[in-house]
Amino acid sequence: MNENVYNQIKEIKKYALDNKIPIMVDRGIDFLTRFIVDHQVENILEVGTAIGYSSIMMALSSPNVKITTIERDQERYMEAVKNIKKMGLEDRITLIFNDALDVEVDGTFDLIFLDAAKGQNIRFFEKFEKNLTEHGTIITDNMDFHGLVNQEEESMSRNLRGLIRKIKEYQEFLENNENYDVKFLTTGDGIAVAHRK
Ligand code: SAH
Ligand code: MG
Repeated sequence: MNENVYNQIKEIKKYALDNKIPIMVDRGIDFLTRFIVDHQVENILEVGTAIGYSSIMMALSSPNVKITTIERDQERYMEAVKNIKKMGLEDRITLIFNDALDVEVDGTFDLIFLDAAKGQNIRFFEKFEKNLTEHGTIITDNMDFHGLVNQEEESMSRNLRGLIRKIKEYQEFLENNENYDVKFLTTGDGIAVAHRK
């Protein structure tokens, strides 16, 4: 990474930190970008752009990568547009401003990366599976949700408890899905890798 690119990434990370935007942690990004290189991934669909950080990192991992990414929050979407333009990646990253559950995406992708509302992952999975290539992979971030998934529930608010239950339901949904080989990694904030058989 040249110095200019490095500094821009640093700025994006700082903006995320200052504005409490939950971008992927370094270990998670390392895993994702290595996966892309190792599996020669070319087309990626991302659900949950935020300000474009993970899209940018994925695009930088290989010049062959093209990404379509969906964000429903206008302010974040606008920030992502700005960041992607600044990095000169607008030819390889297509942004969609919409709720992922309300939008139809054309084409197929060899990797689908789910990183949006953590309680909706079953719905995202079932909706976008039709956009996955035959032996493609669906990767999901935040399966451990900051370590809370395996914690005592009594100390949590009702909302949080509900969310944690949904993450566990999604975990079971993946485990019981016979069409996929599924691995749960403790890397970063917990990553699920579901590879279609
Ligand atoms: N992938 C980003 C972080 C995404 S944070 C990165 O690592 O850099 C999760 C984002 O998903 C938030 O910005 C939130 O607004 C968005 N989101 C949540 N539910 C969504 C939905 N149904 N459709 C589109 N975006 C959604
Ligand atoms: Mg995440």
